[in-house]
Amino acid sequence: MVSKHEQLYNQLCQHARETAMLSATESILGWDERTMLPPEAAEYRAEQMTLLAGMIHQRRTDSRLGDWLGELATSPLAADPHSDSGTTIRQLKREFDKRVKLPQSLVEELTRTASLGQHVWQQARANDDFASFEPLLAKTFELKRAQAEALGYDKNPYDALLDDFEPGESTANVARVLSDLREALVPLVSAIAGSSRRPDVSILARRYPLEMQQGFARDAAAQIGFDFCRGRLDVTAHPFCTGLGPHDCRITTRFDENFFNSAFFGTLHEAGHGIYDQGLRTELYGLPPAEAVSLGIHESQSRMWENLVGRSRAFWDHFYPTAQQSFPDALSAERLDRFYFAVNDVRPSLIRVEADEATYNLHILIRFELEQALLTDDLQVADLPAAWNDKYSKYLGIRPGNDADGVLQDIHWAAGLVGYFPTYSLGNLYASQFFAQAERDLGSLSSQFARGEFQPLGDWLRKNIHTHGQRYSAAELVQRITGKTLSHAPLIAHLRNKLAPLYGLN
Ligand code: ZN
Repeated sequence: MVSKHEQLYNQLCQHARETAMLSATESILGWDERTMLPPEAAEYRAEQMTLLAGMIHQRRTDSRLGDWLGELATSPLAADPHSDSGTTIRQLKREFDKRVKLPQSLVEELTRTASLGQHVWQQARANDDFASFEPLLAKTFELKRAQAEALGYDKNPYDALLDDFEPGESTANVARVLSDLREALVPLVSAIAGSSRRPDVSILARRYPLEMQQGFARDAAAQIGFDFCRGRLDVTAHPFCTGLGPHDCRITTRFDENFFNSAFFGTLHEAGHGIYDQGLRTELYGLPPAEAVSLGIHESQSRMWENLVGRSRAFWDHFYPTAQQSFPDALSAERLDRFYFAVNDVRPSLIRVEADEATYNLHILIRFELEQALLTDDLQVADLPAAWNDKYSKYLGIRPGNDADGVLQDIHWAAGLVGYFPTYSLGNLYASQFFAQAERDLGSLSSQFARGEFQPLGDWLRKNIHTHGQRYSAAELVQRITGKTLSHAPLIAHLRNKLAPLYGLN
């Protein structure tokens, strides 16, 4: 006999799976839009996607969901919060309760402003004209304040927004970890900037034929564990990873014939995201136990393969001979030492997306501090460019010459994404802390990488992180896996261990 609660639970799961099916369909349209769509088709595609987004929103705010979840939350099926049913009920309820707190008019206003904002931002950036973007940005932060108020928060309105990207995380905790990180990172970056040793980065700007890059990147993605029977690698302008179903993960990259890094490390990064998606449980596709836990944890997977693995000496001990064969003009006469130093070039720069592994986190810290100040009205939007430039001087020792290379460089705020930036640094922090633990559990990872063995780390990640989906929060995962709360120390140790010998620091 199926109990009443079980019947209700099955109904709930069926509903969630169908919503996921619609959502995956929307993702197919989105993937196609960003990789294949002819320009004239954009308008109709936007209509298709708006229609689907509306249907999905309607399903997610369906009042029956509230009734089912209300009843199931106190049922035996929810008693163990870490069981599949407990996780499903808790997480769906959490999402539903958040959604219904937002008035329809605010949701529409946020959507409209974000869509207009991206358009205005694009123009403003092209013309280096912050003033033309200022009113929209002010409006965006006003709406984000309203959103935080509607959602509710304990101490800081930023908590309510952060929760969308890093569920359960608190502003105070992120601020604590990032400020510890800053204290250690600013002197390290400045010591590197003052070092007389410099890699010859022109090695990476030689000619790397596109077809060979394609093959080399694809082969590396496969070797680290991306399953091409359940995914594809395609070309796009702004690389991303998207899931189109339980056995269909799409990663993308872009190629530059005269710069090795963008396609290769971009592919490792997206493959890292893809390996996480491919490690989620397929039989529960569309339900929270088979969904990624947070953006920060997702990013930890991409950063781990891109930086901790892909920029390690051992990785290149294994891959460099193939690289030399693939790119004989560029590399056949080049020493591995010099190539390895070049891919680990660290220098303060103005543009976040081009920043290296070490300075990247300072770019994030600046945005994290500024968006909090804007949200709480401690900083006026009109004063933002000056505040931005001052922080770049202070943390990175360089000052943008214009707003296009300064405050106008990112799309996030224009798109209404406030509270998103810290997840990038959280990703770096989680990655280092997980990696250090994997090394304790699995023995020397570098000797494995040098032999081309990436599966032990892949299996470890799948077992400890991927298969749990949303069973544990990000903070719980870190605690369970490493026995500690999140700390800046493993990331700093990783950077120091790698960079001090390269740059001759003591
Ligand atoms: Zn990423």
